[in-house]
Amino acid sequence: MSAGTVQGVLGPIAAADLGTVLMHEHVAAASGGVIRAWPELFGGTERLIARAVADLEAARAAGVDTIVDATTFDLGRDMDVIAEVARRSGMQIVASSGHWLMPVPTMATRSVEQLAAWFERELSQGADGTSYRAGIMKIASEQEITPFEARVLEAAARTHRQTGAAILTHSGSRHGTGELQADMLERHGVDPGRVVIGHSDDSSDVEYLSRLAARGYYLGMDRLPNGAMPEYGGQTVEDRLQMIATLVERGYANRIVVSTDDPIWAPLLTDEDQATHVRVNPDRVAFIPRVAMPRLRELGVSADDLAAIMVRNPAAWLTGGA
Ligand SMILES: [Zn+2]
Repeated sequence: MSAGTVQGVLGPIAAADLGTVLMHEHVAAASGGVIRAWPELFGGTERLIARAVADLEAARAAGVDTIVDATTFDLGRDMDVIAEVARRSGMQIVASSGHWLMPVPTMATRSVEQLAAWFERELSQGADGTSYRAGIMKIASEQEITPFEARVLEAAARTHRQTGAAILTHSGSRHGTGELQADMLERHGVDPGRVVIGHSDDSSDVEYLSRLAARGYYLGMDRLPNGAMPEYGGQTVEDRLQMIATLVERGYANRIVVSTDDPIWAPLLTDEDQATHVRVNPDRVAFIPRVAMPRLRELGVSADDLAAIMVRNPAAWLTGGA
């Protein structure tokens, strides 16, 4: 990938064309293979695509130009579905290589070398048996970094150095694992400016977040609507938005990126929990422009700082450009 561009599922996207970016979304977050093996679970592939297209068209109408789909293979990624949704909705989508939590045996027994070769192939040739390519890599850890998660992290670091692809993390920010990830990524030669430490808005600790930002990492404030649900750690939607305003006051507007992490279809959850997500966030993927941005303006975040958060920071993270 040439400098100043990122690989979208439908082709390279120049930094200047990314526009307003949500850096952690999901068309569907299931278990690996479920979309192909059990389409009756969601009423068939066509129904899933139609629902995703409708949600993403609404987000586009509200001003979102690009989403990063943070769905790895083990989270049920299906590149044919993602590509079709991108084509029909007009939303620019950057897909993810890498791996989430809870590996199945075939993943748990893989080496760093094998994982790195797989990630590199998904980024440079195609994924899920297609020629649609991932544009970033996701890594994950929760309360600690397990030996498997450390191998994924090292493989992603190697592949980052080789390909220049950006890294997105799932961190257990209530447990401070963002700093453990940061330490390990730096040891493996990764530039903090190409890493989003995800789920940072689950933290109530402004000092922890400030330390990561001061080291040059992007803080993924990516679960903003989920504050309405207690299982996301007790930080309310308002707490999360106030935390962003506080970090901006501290001078970190250039280190913040935002998203909803509210999958359009999420059978990792029970049907009841999925219904709760829709009830507490009826705006779905349009939540950021419709709800979060107006409230951040009220909290004193300037138009220029919002442009950094929505446009300039994600472009720099994804493409390595200034
Ligand atoms: Zn997610």
